[in-house]
Amino acid sequence: MDLIEKIKNKLEAYEPLKINITLIFRYLVSAFIWIVLLEHFLNYFFSTGKIHNLIHISNKILFIVFSIVVIYFLIVKSIDQKYLISKNVLDRVERLKDEEEKLKKFNILEDIVNIGIWEYELEKQRFYLSYWNQNGINIHKNYANLDPVESIRQYIHPDDLKSAQRNWELFLDTKADKYANIFRIKDNSEYIYIKQNGRVLKDKQGDCYKIIGTITEITREKKLENKLYQLAYFDNLTKLPNEKYFFERLDEKLQKIKNHKREVQFSVFYLEIADIDNILNIVGSLHCNNIAQKIAAKLKEDQDLVLISHYYGNKFLLLFKELFSKEQIDFKAKEISRLIMELWQESKIDYFLNFKIGISIYPLHGKDAQNLISRAHHAMHTIKDDSQFYQIYDQNIYYKKLNTIRLKNDLRKAVENNELDLVYQPKLDLKSEKIVAFEALLRWQHPEFGQISPGTFIPIAEQSNLISKITRLVIKKVIEEFATNKILRDSGKIISINLSAHDLKSDSLIRYLEKLIKNDKLNSEQIDFEITESIFLDASDRELDNLKKIKKAGFYISLDDFGKGYSSLSYLAKLPIDILKIDMSFIRNLDQRKTKILTEKIIELSHELDFKVVAEGVETSAEVETLLNFNCDYVQGYYYYRPMAIKELKSIIGKNCNNVSV
Ligand code: C2E
Ligand code: CA
Ligand code: CA
Repeated sequence: MDLIEKIKNKLEAYEPLKINITLIFRYLVSAFIWIVLLEHFLNYFFSTGKIHNLIHISNKILFIVFSIVVIYFLIVKSIDQKYLISKNVLDRVERLKDEEEKLKKFNILEDIVNIGIWEYELEKQRFYLSYWNQNGINIHKNYANLDPVESIRQYIHPDDLKSAQRNWELFLDTKADKYANIFRIKDNSEYIYIKQNGRVLKDKQGDCYKIIGTITEITREKKLENKLYQLAYFDNLTKLPNEKYFFERLDEKLQKIKNHKREVQFSVFYLEIADIDNILNIVGSLHCNNIAQKIAAKLKEDQDLVLISHYYGNKFLLLFKELFSKEQIDFKAKEISRLIMELWQESKIDYFLNFKIGISIYPLHGKDAQNLISRAHHAMHTIKDDSQFYQIYDQNIYYKKLNTIRLKNDLRKAVENNELDLVYQPKLDLKSEKIVAFEALLRWQHPEFGQISPGTFIPIAEQSNLISKITRLVIKKVIEEFATNKILRDSGKIISINLSAHDLKSDSLIRYLEKLIKNDKLNSEQIDFEITESIFLDASDRELDNLKKIKKAGFYISLDDFGKGYSSLSYLAKLPIDILKIDMSFIRNLDQRKTKILTEKIIELSHELDFKVVAEGVETSAEVETLLNFNCDYVQGYYYYRPMAIKELKSIIGKNCNNVSV
């Protein structure tokens, strides 16, 4: 249409009549001048004679030549002009055709790649949108004297308008080379996501004069992204925000606090429902998710709650504003407990719901999200038993816990790498002061922490099921040392090995021992197992049966630490023991009248029950004196010997004690 219009204009400007009249007029004028002037000139100089006639004839010829020249020039000029006009018009038509062709191709390409083009001239504030934008995504705006966002503002989703404007302004303010903006626009009745990308064109001075860019529709990508966002930031089943979401929001909040140098305090609660597996088994996972949602809904009613997240089915992270004192936290924790209990009753679930809350306070326990969350988590893990349901982070408690975890790990490695050693502490016949036995005691040289007492690592081994491995390791070592040390083997001395509660829980130990005896690896009469009565505190008959089997296999059995803790005389009748070891707490207090009487009576009673008695932890000659008076059978303690390595044992076997080791 545009092209035809242009040709029309050109043609309308062309007037043939006017050109012809001009031509005739020009010819007449020049002919008139020629005739009048030449006639006048000839008459003046050559009025008579032959020359006059000749000149007249040549004048006519000249006139004809002149006319031909004039007509020729006038016609050529006119033809030239017409030719030029036509050529010009044709050229333009050609060019326009070319442009139209290019535009068509361009529009097809836009369609194929699904990308629209735009241009924005900064000075003129002229915004141009290509065909694709106008037809592909229905933004009907060709040119506008507004920027790329303002020009199409009536199409932009109201929720996105502000951020879209902000992004454009930010791009201009920062004088960036690249521009990107994502927002929704109305395409017919639906909103679609588009992405405006732009690059800056600069003049020689380096100033931006134009921005050229593309528009792409990214609804599918955006929906996918939203889905991924949902997956990444929300719990799949309950649709509640997850830990990652909590972390990032908390991180943003802390960043703002830092930027504005605000002095605020708040707390992070890490709430975990215990025994979720059991609850899941009883109520089913759907019901469980429902419960999690209900708990979240209840918690959300709290005015102080700023952020909540839920994940792994049983964990919640909560952020409470302006909550930092012990009293406030105590109040809030109890309120949460009440809310959950209430919900439990409403849901008519009549078994006990156990949950724990760990709490960290900003900025006391951490200034970044990572620390605040992990410390709330650590605090929850330091809760010891059911009597407590919340714990505020305490570095000391946590480090203790951390060391235990670390030691557990290191101990496992030490057992696997055979890094535990044995030392032996002699037991002596009190009257003769001759060594009768050695108690095998474990030693662990930790590469970093140095010597770790068995008092510390044995309980850790007991908790982590490592203890039965350790017991076997001790037995194996004792056998090895017997095998390689002839003096020890032939000395007839008894070796005492300490057992733990776990060792008697199954018959695997006795089966192991029986195998050793069968293979002639072990002489049961040379081994004494020390057990403590705590083994039998909450034990069933199984432990007692296994102990009886050990006894039956010919091993000696000593009751260790007697009198410490939960002593009950009834054990003395029940347990198949040979020796009773009086706990060193008695020996230490022999100067006290009542302890003295008790010690004497325990020894007397033991003898009446046919047990031999060992007094352990003997440190002074006064203690030895008293024990002699009480007719105690054996002694063990620093007064005689400290625990020592096998190499040192060889030199003292068979000798009388010289009491110099204290
Ligand atoms: P326990 O069986 O009562 O061992 C006696 C502990 O008292 C040993 O400490 C020993 O070194 C110490 N001791 C000996 N004489 C004296 C003394 O005169 N004064 C004082 N103050 N202490 C004395 P140790 O070696 O640190 O062992 C601590 C505990 O670790 C043992 O107490 C035992 O319950 C456990 N234990 C050690 N080795 C083993 C083992 O191989 N297996 C098991 N299950 N427990 C072990
Ligand atoms: Ca012992
Ligand atoms: Ca003991």
